Amino acid sequence: MLNRPEPTFRESVDLMFNRAVALMDLPPGLEEKIRVCNSTYTVRFGVRLRGQIKTLTGYRAVHSEHMEPVKGGIRYSLGVNQDEVEALAALMTYKCALVETPFGGSKGGLCIDPREYEEHELEMITRRFTYELAKRDLINPSQNVPAPDMGTGEREMAWMADQYARMNTTDINSRACVTGKPPHAGGIQGRVEATGRGVQFALQEFFRHPEDVKAANLSGSLDGKRVIVQGLGNVGYHAAKFLSEEDGAKITGIIERDGGLYDEKGLNIEDVHQHIVRSGGVKGFPSGEYVVDASKLLEEKCDILIPAAIEGVINIGNADRVQANLIIEAANGPVTAPADEILRKKGIVIVPDMFANAGGVTVSYFEWVKNLSHIRFGRMGRRQEEARHQLIVNELQRLDEHLGSSWSMSPGFKKKYLRGAGELELVRSGLDDTMRAAYQSMREVWHSRDDVPDLRMAAYLVSIGRVATSYKAKGL
Ligand code: NAD
Repeated sequence: MLNRPEPTFRESVDLMFNRAVALMDLPPGLEEKIRVCNSTYTVRFGVRLRGQIKTLTGYRAVHSEHMEPVKGGIRYSLGVNQDEVEALAALMTYKCALVETPFGGSKGGLCIDPREYEEHELEMITRRFTYELAKRDLINPSQNVPAPDMGTGEREMAWMADQYARMNTTDINSRACVTGKPPHAGGIQGRVEATGRGVQFALQEFFRHPEDVKAANLSGSLDGKRVIVQGLGNVGYHAAKFLSEEDGAKITGIIERDGGLYDEKGLNIEDVHQHIVRSGGVKGFPSGEYVVDASKLLEEKCDILIPAAIEGVINIGNADRVQANLIIEAANGPVTAPADEILRKKGIVIVPDMFANAGGVTVSYFEWVKNLSHIRFGRMGRRQEEARHQLIVNELQRLDEHLGSSWSMSPGFKKKYLRGAGELELVRSGLDDTMRAAYQSMREVWHSRDDVPDLRMAAYLVSIGRVATSYKAKGL
């Protein structure tokens, strides 16, 4: 097995696509039209930094425009290259189709290590990159809407939105040119946590189906399950935090750039996170065992493995040593195509990336809609909802007094029931609904066809089917 060459990220995505499409009856040529990346723009631009001109390279790939705008994050990392952005753009197409957000797929990246720059330098770089993309409509509320990814966050999105607005002073919808902005700059509550929250909702839905839990050789609920997480960044931190604080899961392992932590009894995520914020890594954390070769923890026994850092970490080199029962791909492409095959043969169940990390794009969709409608969710209905609930509570109290006190409301009921849903509650509700519906669409295919052995293939079948329908409707 070790003699087989490891495919590139894009080749891996194409291999997985081909495996699924072989089962479909698409019109001749449509398969290729869907698979290929429509365009990739490479930009090289100069920025004057520390007294000299530094030339930087960035990309924006547009995989499919069957729906517009196209959508996908912008990554800042030294590993960014054309193959990677094209693979990530393709995954965005399938992801958006699977969770029914009305977008085509895109992705961008800038080849820098953001940790090497001061804040004002990053702002200059981001604004210049935005300028290059915006003048080619590669950032545009109706054509191409970026979002955060590895190495970028709310701050970068706010700079991009502001740069776009400066270049398009009469565009009333300019805020919708990018999502993942801070709430005070046109963002939406719950976007920062969205991808990790989506991972939690995905696992909660998985554990609602005993048949699926059994397929992973597990039983019961998330409570007490041993979880190992790779990457305690935006996605990994939120997923691990919610799973441990709200669902009773035990985070037994954390894999970071500078090493790993292992503790059978479970690690406190908030404490580890604070330690990383203070010291820049996990080394020196006072509890648990520090592991120098952190990637070895990918092979440690656990119930659920959550790769939430980068692509290709489970590959031909280590797949046969992975011992987790269930892998949920919080990162994009953490399992290569050959590793996927090895894990499947071992009976490990994989919840695929295009579903598992779709929480980000789902809440980005809500943000984009909010920007276009120029009103926050819940503003019109919240107090009216509360007033109607108050009517019922008043009526119950009146009956109670009238009948004599044979019963009373549960403690806390009145306060909880009277509270109308604000933006955060609505966002979480919409995200939960989206994750449940998407999971059900995958599992239906998984369980109803003998030739579909896993959730990834089911996910591809659902999403490619939807993209194909959209192309056909356009007359292609
Ligand atoms: P991030 O930059 O916030 O965090 C990445 C974390 O991984 C960091 O803590 C970093 O130190 C760690 N890391 C990087 N390389 C590592 C390695 N080799 N070994 C161990 N740890 C390593 O990034 P993020 O936004 O959390 O994104 C993580 C993954 O999730 C990426 O694959 C990204 O494409 C995917 N994703 C992110 C979002 C989003 O909304 N941010 C949405 C969908 C998918």
